[in-house]
Amino acid sequence: MRDTFLPFCRPSISEEDIAAIGDVLRSGWITTGPKVAALEDAVAKRCGAKHAIAATSGTALMHLALQALGVGPGDEVVGPSMTWVSTPNMVELLGGTNVFVDADRDTLLASPEAIAAAITPRTKVVIPVHYAGAPADLDGIRAVCHAKGVTLLEDAAHAIGTHYKGREVGGQDTAIFSLHPIKNITSGEGGVLTTNDDALAKKLRRLRFHGLEVDAHDRSQQGRSPQAEVQEPGYKQNMPDMNAVLALRQLPRLDEFIERRDAISALYRRELANVDGVLPLADPAWSHRHARHLFVVRIDERTAGLDRTAFMEGLKKRNIGTGIHFLASHTHRWYRENRGQWMGRLPDTEWNSARICTIPMFPDMTDADAMDVVQAIKETLAGARVAVAGGAR
Ligand SMILES: *Cc1c(COP(=O)(O)O)cnc(C)c1O
Repeated sequence: MRDTFLPFCRPSISEEDIAAIGDVLRSGWITTGPKVAALEDAVAKRCGAKHAIAATSGTALMHLALQALGVGPGDEVVGPSMTWVSTPNMVELLGGTNVFVDADRDTLLASPEAIAAAITPRTKVVIPVHYAGAPADLDGIRAVCHAKGVTLLEDAAHAIGTHYKGREVGGQDTAIFSLHPIKNITSGEGGVLTTNDDALAKKLRRLRFHGLEVDAHDRSQQGRSPQAEVQEPGYKQNMPDMNAVLALRQLPRLDEFIERRDAISALYRRELANVDGVLPLADPAWSHRHARHLFVVRIDERTAGLDRTAFMEGLKKRNIGTGIHFLASHTHRWYRENRGQWMGRLPDTEWNSARICTIPMFPDMTDADAMDVVQAIKETLAGARVAVAGGAR
């Protein structure tokens, strides 16, 4: 057994990254300024999008985008329940209605067919999730949205660096990336939205900073002109330069990070192929580059001999960290108590919600670390089987 704890994720931060943050602190300008502008330019360029807009989190950008798109009482937002609950929460806070769709049992992606079936005349926005860094079927989903006249907003929180049919996610539709420390690159906390929609970009830039008028000078000068006026009441969700500089330094390493994640993922797949009851997700059928944000397995109690809770405890005892991404949104207490009509209607989501477990995956992990995870899984399962055979359960 390893003698140090292996967390399920850890950002890769170099001494140069730390020095770059120090430089921002010493510069005298630490809030939104040139580093944010440079990060926005770099993300827009990488994705092939006209605009990129940084904010304090992916959640903040979801809030701003839903508000900018006019989501409010009477409007429905269609998306998978298998997502981080931040998205459904923003819909609720704006007075909108979440319409949840089931996810594919083995990829956890919502299909164009499931989305099409959930759209009604009240639907305003569709939010697919590129779960774990695998792209949703964008061609199909985009066609459904165009046919029905609803806005497509991609939850690309896991998907910076993901490709769909040869194109980088974020270049075609409006997409939101998260830069939370668990994600493939980080700004500490933060997020970036990409879009080709000029009017939406302008509105978001305003809403992110008090609703103040935005002009071309804002990006060259530091901050707003002192004469800028409120065009509509807005929020305070601008990203500080201290944070932006970290993501700006991480972005050029993204491909290297993903290659390393891909190698760890391949090792896990090889080593777990013959382990009963521990089922990795499937990759989507369409051509893609997976960002390998999370490595998720499902613990099938009938063949594993133990449930997810016991599995996670067994790994923890062996110094291996795990997580759950995610408990399906509609199964959270508030949603059960206030939006209870969804329980039982999303069978593949519920099956996975009770069984998924994220095992360690981050670029600084060694192959030996990954083999420690495999070993801990095998020992945990063997222990459970001995207990079952001995009637100890
Ligand atoms: C992380 C995450 C978000 C929110 O991003 P934050 O930057 O943490 O606010 C949204 N959706 C999904 C699927 C996520 O994993």
